[in-house]
Amino acid sequence: MEKLQTTIKESFTVSGTGLHTGGSVNMTFLPAPEDHGYKFQRVDLEGQPTVDALVDYVVDVSRGTTLEQNGARINTVEHVLAALAGLEIDNVLIQLDSPETPIMDGSSAPFVAKLKEIGIVDQTKEREYFEVPYNISYEEEDRGVEMVAMPLDDYRLTVMIDYNSPVLGSQHASITNLSEFDSEISSCRTFCFLHELEMLVDNNLIKGGDLNNAIVIVDRVIEDSELDQLAKLFNKPKVEVKKEGILNNVELRFQNEPARHKLLDMIGDLALIGTPLKAQIMAARPGHAANVEFAKKIKKIIEKNEKRSRTDEKRT
Ligand SMILES: [Zn+2]
Repeated sequence: MEKLQTTIKESFTVSGTGLHTGGSVNMTFLPAPEDHGYKFQRVDLEGQPTVDALVDYVVDVSRGTTLEQNGARINTVEHVLAALAGLEIDNVLIQLDSPETPIMDGSSAPFVAKLKEIGIVDQTKEREYFEVPYNISYEEEDRGVEMVAMPLDDYRLTVMIDYNSPVLGSQHASITNLSEFDSEISSCRTFCFLHELEMLVDNNLIKGGDLNNAIVIVDRVIEDSELDQLAKLFNKPKVEVKKEGILNNVELRFQNEPARHKLLDMIGDLALIGTPLKAQIMAARPGHAANVEFAKKIKKIIEKNEKRSRTDEKRT
């Protein structure tokens, strides 16, 4: 039997802090009708404009994926979209009173927990997938990015990261289908390198409270005085670098948590295609910029196919 489209049983609100703006955010998930897809709505702006969660409206990919439509901007959409796509929820309206989603613990787990607690309900229309008909690939030679979507009667993803760093070398993560998203991927948190963190702090680009929502990979020798400064930033009496080269502001949830988080990001970014996929995805060195280009390429093929099937209908 074909799967039906789904939404959530009732609305609920989560509150938190935006990672980059540092402001507090209330985010409300509301049930939505069939064929609605995911839409964001800025309830703090005049006219309460909505933003379709589609790759066509991506305006920035530098620190997370940012959408803009109808004069409204939504920053860092990927972890929220990963939670929805990972649980195979099709139709939801997400209202925000700020330009940024709350970072929570840096993963999708808090959203997943709430969505499951509220409940997911079947609707009456069938879920429509895009069944990838042939290998669709995307490459960026200079950054070593390689992505391919291959035909498969399921949704399977494998991600490889490779930072050429003694601390964070090559890591893989994969799921054989979305039923594994909740337990294997959803709790994996965002990460950054110490040198990036310093740059972000210096440029006022990272504020999110006590910063205990990011894995920090210490990729250079660090002085005790710097550790003291970092402790202040993390709101902790003391921080130290563990033998794996990770700052002890957090405990790793999986040995390959960074690769798993990249897979999470990819599920969120590919949700911007607007149609669930049946495909096997393999991605080397993914990132928001490449994910978005890959999503655009797949969406274009979907649109071309739709146009063709419409002309075929007219002919018959
Ligand atoms: Zn992320």
